[in-house]
Amino acid sequence: MNFILRFVLTVAFVLSVGVQAKAGGVSDGGGGRAEQNISFAFMHLNRFIELCLQSETCKITAAEKNILQSIQKSLASEQKNTHPLVFKSGDSSFFRIDGDLKVAKTDFKIGSPVYFNVDMLYIKAADGKIVAMDIAEAVGILIHELAHHQGERDHSQLDLLAAKVRQAVQARIQHLDMGKYQSSIQVDVIDWNVSNEAATDTQLIISDALKTQNLSSLIRDQISCPFKGSTLSGYWLWNIHWNLGESFPSFDQQRLWKQPLRGRLNYYCKISSGETVEVAGNDMEISIYFSEAKDDLKNLEFSSKAPEVEVIDCLQNPGRCH
Ligand SMILES: [Zn+2]
Repeated sequence: MNFILRFVLTVAFVLSVGVQAKAGGVSDGGGGRAEQNISFAFMHLNRFIELCLQSETCKITAAEKNILQSIQKSLASEQKNTHPLVFKSGDSSFFRIDGDLKVAKTDFKIGSPVYFNVDMLYIKAADGKIVAMDIAEAVGILIHELAHHQGERDHSQLDLLAAKVRQAVQARIQHLDMGKYQSSIQVDVIDWNVSNEAATDTQLIISDALKTQNLSSLIRDQISCPFKGSTLSGYWLWNIHWNLGESFPSFDQQRLWKQPLRGRLNYYCKISSGETVEVAGNDMEISIYFSEAKDDLKNLEFSSKAPEVEVIDCLQNPGRCH
C-alpha cells in the first residue's frame, strides 16, 4: 500500500469514528446554549406558566387553563426525576411521529423523560449564523410535552397552547445581542413579577457562543438594604443596554475586552414591621470580561475573569447616571 492510500484510509477511519461517536449520542444535561435554555425553562416552568395564567393577553380557554394547572401540580415530581430531560442526536427514526420529525417526544405518564432532538435545537440563519433554541420556545415545547404526561394526546391542540404560553413569556423577556459582529453574545432579562407589589428577582442571563451564565444571584449579592434590620425581598431591573466597552491587556498578556451592561434598578426591602419598602433611583452596571480573539473583536468569548456588579445610587452620584 502506498503512503498516500494509507493516509487516505487513516483519515477515512478517523472521520467514521467521529461520526459514530456523534450518532445516537445521548446526554441529560450540560451541552450547548439550547440545552442550557431548555434546562433553565424546565427548572422555572412554574413561574413561566404563572406569566400566562396571570396575563389577560394569554387568552387561554378554560380547558387550557386546566391543563396548565395540572402541569403545575405535577411539576415537583417531574423535577425530582433523576433524568427528566434527555438530549439525543443522530436518531431521526426515534423522533418521527406519524411521519413527521419532531423536536421532542415523551410518554403519556408523569415522570417519563422528555427526549429532545439535538439535531433540531440549532438552526442555521440566513446569514449563516447558528441560532440556538431560545428560552421562550423551550417553555412552549415543555408545555406541549408535559401536557402529554397529563394524558393529553392532541398534538396540534397542544401546539396552540404552547404558542400562547410562549408569547406570554416572550412579552416578559428583554433580549439583546451585541450587534452584527458579536451576535453570539446575548442577554435575556426575564421579569416574572406578575403583580406590582410582589418582589421577585429579575433574572439576567448572558451567553456567548458556548456558555450561559445566570447573573441573578451575583446581582442580589451586591444590593444592600439601607434600613436597620431589613432584608432584601427582591429587585427589578429594566432598560438594559450596552455601554461603551474597552480593551486592555490582562496579566497573562492576553487581551481582555471589558463590556459594561447598564440598566435601571429598583429593589425591595422588608423592614422590621413586616412592610416592604421600594428603593428607587438606582443604576446598575455589570462589567463582563471577554477574551479577545486574534482577529480583533470577532468572536468574543467569556474570559475567566468573573463579572463585576456595581449598584449606583443616582441621587448621590447624579453625574454617573443619565
Ligand atoms: Zn405531541
